[in-house]
Amino acid sequence: MIIAIDGPAGSGKSSTAREVAKRTNSLYIDTGAMYRAVALFTIENGIDAHLEISESVLSHVHIRLEPSDSGVDVYLNGSNVNDKIRGSEVSELSSVVSSNRDVRNKMVSIQREMALECVNKGGSVVMEGRDIGTVVFPDAEFKFFLIADPKVRAQRRAVQLKEKGVPASEASLYQEIVDRDGRDESRELSPLKKAETAIEIDTSDLSFEEQVENIISVIKGNG
Ligand code: C5P
Repeated sequence: MIIAIDGPAGSGKSSTAREVAKRTNSLYIDTGAMYRAVALFTIENGIDAHLEISESVLSHVHIRLEPSDSGVDVYLNGSNVNDKIRGSEVSELSSVVSSNRDVRNKMVSIQREMALECVNKGGSVVMEGRDIGTVVFPDAEFKFFLIADPKVRAQRRAVQLKEKGVPASEASLYQEIVDRDGRDESRELSPLKKAETAIEIDTSDLSFEEQVENIISVIKGNG
């Protein structure tokens, strides 16, 4: 079984997908982390993400996701980059590298391989991103599209960052979110959009538990 959870930045996808994976005993695959790792690679190697990413550059990029207590560990060329990929420079650049065709081809093929390896062994997968229900697994058994008011999304990000001791202005987070959504929705390749058959959930006024329960009840056939 494959459960696809898509949606814009800060819609609650990651935390919800992680919990749904836990409760359904599924493998959690955070595809955004993979685009973030590519963005980090360009920063660390002085590569212009707008111009210089080619298949030969990508042949030096090895990304691995491993399940962990916190959900998933992300490795770039053998190093754990969990913390490095969450800053705002990487966030912004991730939506630049993700519009590159070679990057998308490489990420999508790794994503399909990881999921199918699990499914072929009888397991289930919760895969979270922007194009899972439209492109990566259009035939997924369950597809959800999470949305939320951008102001609420900025507030949530601010709270998350504060908890980690990172100072953040809600106004600049709001702008970051709106800009990133704009790039993700308007790009030519696999733009952020709801799959026709996806169930849309507006999380603006939902608690975390309600978001998770909404999805679980659909999966269990009670939704
Ligand atoms: O989900 P997250 O915010 O970590 O994603 C970072 C960026 O990666 C997004 O803004 C988007 O540009 C890109 N992405 C994508 N397709 C996916 C997942 C993420 O293009 N399936």
